[in-house]
Amino acid sequence: MARTPWRNWSRTVQAQPVTLARPRDEAGVAEVVARAAAAGRTVRPVGSGHSGSPVAAADDVSLDLRHLTGVRAVDPAQGLVAVGAGTRLDALSAGLLRLGLAVANLGDIDHQTLAGALATGTHGTGAAFGSLASGVRGLRLVLADGRVVTCSPTERPDLFAAAVVGLGAFGVVTEVLLHCPPAFLLAADEHPEPLAAVLDGFEQRTAAADHVEFYWFPHTAVAMVKENVRRPLAAGTDPLPRWRALLDDEVLANGLFAATCTAGTLLPGLVPTINRLSTRALAPRRYTDLSHGVFTSRRRVRFREMEYALPRADLPEVLREVQRLIDRRGWRLPFPLEVRVSAPDDAWLSPAHGRATAWLSVQQYGAAPFVDYLTGVEEVLVAAQGRPHWGKLHTRTARDLAPLYPRFTNAQRVRRAVDPAGTFASPHLDRVLGGRDAPTTRGGVTERPEEAQCVHHSRR
Ligand SMILES: Cc1cc2nc3c(=O)[nH]c(=O)nc-3n(C[C@H](O)[C@H](O)[C@H](O)COP(=O)(O)OP(=O)(O)OC[C@H]3O[C@@H](n4cnc5c(N)ncnc54)[C@H](O)[C@@H]3O)c2cc1C
Repeated sequence: MARTPWRNWSRTVQAQPVTLARPRDEAGVAEVVARAAAAGRTVRPVGSGHSGSPVAAADDVSLDLRHLTGVRAVDPAQGLVAVGAGTRLDALSAGLLRLGLAVANLGDIDHQTLAGALATGTHGTGAAFGSLASGVRGLRLVLADGRVVTCSPTERPDLFAAAVVGLGAFGVVTEVLLHCPPAFLLAADEHPEPLAAVLDGFEQRTAAADHVEFYWFPHTAVAMVKENVRRPLAAGTDPLPRWRALLDDEVLANGLFAATCTAGTLLPGLVPTINRLSTRALAPRRYTDLSHGVFTSRRRVRFREMEYALPRADLPEVLREVQRLIDRRGWRLPFPLEVRVSAPDDAWLSPAHGRATAWLSVQQYGAAPFVDYLTGVEEVLVAAQGRPHWGKLHTRTARDLAPLYPRFTNAQRVRRAVDPAGTFASPHLDRVLGGRDAPTTRGGVTERPEEAQCVHHSRR
């Protein structure tokens, strides 16, 4: 049977699904799942393929919900909207704005689908804001037997708590009931600062503005700090001039950055100088605009990424340790490290579950070696009780992860109950969630050879 090649955004995972299903509606999703289950086949729901880990990779049926999109119902009084699970976040923001609403918080980009972003615990930054999943009030799911069920904090609460950040392991989400605040503006203040000062005042700083993050450029002592404060629409926008937005976001952040990354990969010895020159060119900027345009930006330079959720108070010391490691190991790193924060989440499998979190992300240019760097830093993050982002590279297994999540075994129990035959299983899911009697061993999912060391997901 002819297989359809698939690869993810960062080109770290390739797969050859036997069937690519794109049902037109929920009944079609249920039919695909029921048929596959009856035939003993496996199904993996897929979003827009932005996960760097093989969490969405399918070797049998790849189920794409691109036709299940749009805002389907609105309860303005409660700020609740029912959204098709395959809706991309950029389309969601546009649709919500027409209703006078917005997504409460977003990450760096908005090309992911809503269901895909929720399934891996996708987050933005903000000490008082949880991951995207914290805004979910209910789900419609197709279970492994083809039944359509709804769940919420009060209806099938265990299924909800497990499936809302569920890696696509508990069922196929067809619709999400999302709490959305009134549309709002963000007043952005972006400026370079000495890294030492940022780390010294880290906790106070992250509490002082609604959404705080910073990027540290290795081989320099400088951090680019971004502080966004929420404002009502009535405050009025003060956007960046078009030429400045184009220069910063297209020319400097993408075009020139790609060129310097290529130069640094060919001549690694140049990287520290390039980074120092780049940080000198960082100009402060202030502007006020619609929230989704400020939260997100374009990332056209492909990269490999690992991100860990850490106990927030420990972030400064962990980053200092990573700094020392980079110096000791002599890695040459053109990409900055990114630090964000979030509030504790209720979702059982959210990496921010139950604790005030700081996220540390390490990224490497797509064409440069990355395994040594990522696995080296991972040792520091693991020692600091870090939990990996499910949609990014990591080497952890269920055995490592279970002690870090108080409700891990509850989630395993729900998985066994709703998917006893492993219809939604994959070798990667069995590795990171465990809890099934015998790990599945199906072929067809491959990764770049150097990747195999990093994600421990081998060709079978
Ligand atoms: C450039 C870039 C920037 C990023 N920025 C951020 C960021 O700022 N913050 C952050 O936290 N992450 C970030 N990520 C990671 C990204 O948000 C996650 O990997 C996200 O899961 C990708 O969504 P997707 O639609 O591409 O889903 P996929 O990667 O296609 O799938 C992810 C998971 O969702 C499951 N899934 C998809 N659809 C369904 C469904 N209908 N029902 C059940 N399960 C489903 C899949 O099975 C899989 O387990 C970034 C990634 C990239 C490449």
